[in-house]
Amino acid sequence: MIVKRSIWIPFLAALLLLMSFQSQDLLSDSSILFPDQASSPYVLPYPVGKAYICSQGYDRRSTHAGQEFFYAVDFAMAIGTPITAARNGTVLAVVDHFGDEEYGFTTHSNYVIVDHSDGSFGRYVHLTRNGASVKQGQIVSAGDLIGHSGSSGSPGHPHLHFDVTQGNSLPSAQTVPVCFRNTIGHPNGLQSGVRYPAVLY
Ligand SMILES: [Zn+2]
Repeated sequence: MIVKRSIWIPFLAALLLLMSFQSQDLLSDSSILFPDQASSPYVLPYPVGKAYICSQGYDRRSTHAGQEFFYAVDFAMAIGTPITAARNGTVLAVVDHFGDEEYGFTTHSNYVIVDHSDGSFGRYVHLTRNGASVKQGQIVSAGDLIGHSGSSGSPGHPHLHFDVTQGNSLPSAQTVPVCFRNTIGHPNGLQSGVRYPAVLY
């Protein structure tokens, strides 16, 4: 019994120390983590002139608590709201046959994924049924219409979930921090409850 304890205690201590370092790194809101806004290749994923409230930002109050989704953002918007490309790329995948009442983020969400050809992928999730306006293989530029928002996979809360992953697109991939060059300053990433206007760029 004593022998076992002597083995496990240092092991657990090391594990906890490692988890604490990792947690500090991922949860830090230091602007060091975030790319420069003015030179960002990303614009807000909706048309210039529109403004929507970020219902979940990098402060991760709710469903983005898991490590994979640390850097995902949600924009509250009615079903059928136009969604535009946040960055130039090629459409990698399109799913839009699920209904807005169907539940399950990874199993019943409609989405469009855009390959940015630098190892990163933009994911536009919870589109409405038949809500994609692009096809696989299509080249898109930032600002192009790519679909219409909905609540598929997330019934009862119509919104656009947008994130950028690095190195892997689906289904469970690590999101990375991005900022959007055509809106108000957000040096620590978008924050929940703030309305972000999309201005000319
Ligand atoms: Zn989300």
